[in-house]
Amino acid sequence: MRPTRLWALLLAATTALPAAAAPILFENARVFDGTRDLGITPVLIDGARIVHVGTPLPAAATGARRIDYTGKTLLPGLVSDHAHVGNTQGLEHGDRFYTHDNVVRDLRQFQRYGITTVTALGMNGADFFAIRKAVNSDPGLGAQLYGAGGGIGAPDGAPPADTMGLSHDPVARPRNAEEARAAVAIQHADGVDLIKLWVDDLGGKRPMMTPEVYRAAIAEAHAHGLKVAAHIHDLEQARDLVDAKVDILAHGIRDRAVDPMLARKMRDQGTWYIPTIAIDEANYRYAEHPLALQQPFLRQALHADVLARWSQPDWQRTQLASSGVAAARKAVATNLDNVRRLHAAGVKLGFGTDAGAMPQRVIGVAEHRELQLLVEAGLMPSEALQVATTRAAALLGLTDRGRIAAGKRADLLVLDADPLVDIANTQRIGTVWQAGQEVAGPITE
Ligand SMILES: [Zn+2]
Repeated sequence: MRPTRLWALLLAATTALPAAAAPILFENARVFDGTRDLGITPVLIDGARIVHVGTPLPAAATGARRIDYTGKTLLPGLVSDHAHVGNTQGLEHGDRFYTHDNVVRDLRQFQRYGITTVTALGMNGADFFAIRKAVNSDPGLGAQLYGAGGGIGAPDGAPPADTMGLSHDPVARPRNAEEARAAVAIQHADGVDLIKLWVDDLGGKRPMMTPEVYRAAIAEAHAHGLKVAAHIHDLEQARDLVDAKVDILAHGIRDRAVDPMLARKMRDQGTWYIPTIAIDEANYRYAEHPLALQQPFLRQALHADVLARWSQPDWQRTQLASSGVAAARKAVATNLDNVRRLHAAGVKLGFGTDAGAMPQRVIGVAEHRELQLLVEAGLMPSEALQVATTRAAALLGLTDRGRIAAGKRADLLVLDADPLVDIANTQRIGTVWQAGQEVAGPITE
């Protein structure tokens, strides 16, 4: 028994080696390094890391396997700072879907769409920690996972357990400062990457987390060296959270225009702002543009039940006539305007969409749409791409990715067309590399 097992291990080790052993040289691609266009320049990777960018090439390149990427653009794998995993199944959503298989299914879908690092910002089940460990040591499984565990919400408030389908509510819901500090301490001990708070009265319909609770949670998180990301919707929530030294606003401000004073304060404090513009647009976009359902890029991201439902003209009509659509359009317009203002004021933008929280927040597709919306808000394509790579990684405090440079992880997105010319070209995915492994190809029928 024992020798056989040893032999199997040796065999596995030797057969696994050749793929990782030889360096790989990417030639003739235009390189956007996460901050700027480097033009056409070679990139050398060895194992899981990038070892060299540009000419002259080091001696290590001599024996490298060469890949000709003529006509293609190479950029860092995208990083999402706000998504959810294991929360949907076809047309349904809820915590009953939080299983290892469903989380891996979602992370694999993110990866196929070029998002190689994903932050699951709350509503994670207890299995989050084991899954994070498994996924992060095997690039073939899917995008790397970071997250906020269950997160911290308000009793009977956001995130609403009924509408979010939380039957075994994973969210901590402290009633006072003491319970808030305890909730943060427990999540820190569990090993979360950051703390998530929900501060939203959902349009006056639910009790909101009190300032006493979120101020205590933020102070406790900072004492443990953890950043705090807060779900918000309105300006007043954002204003008081920034005053309380929150690190990250996890959604755009969508009720009214942000004022210069708050913008300045955010810039001076280094507060991150994740606009999630696509979140409200998702409520009408697919009903409004049903032709997109014919294209593999969207089609391949949808469960068969969702595709069937969204293809029905009746559903499309009902959807567009529903009362929430006018409000959603207004929220998108306000969000775009606020992104423009905050970006102009020098506030740091993070990247996220809330993909995976609901079926219409389509994993992978939402991120590419968000890039287009950032450009619509006034960012240059290079700035939007910087937000989704270097900046998004910096928000998480990850210095090993988000950049094509020697020493960084070989998490790479290869596009068949240039996104600096037209941001929609990020949808022309050629190949996805994660930790030096080719993990996905074009999205086709
Ligand atoms: Zn969210």
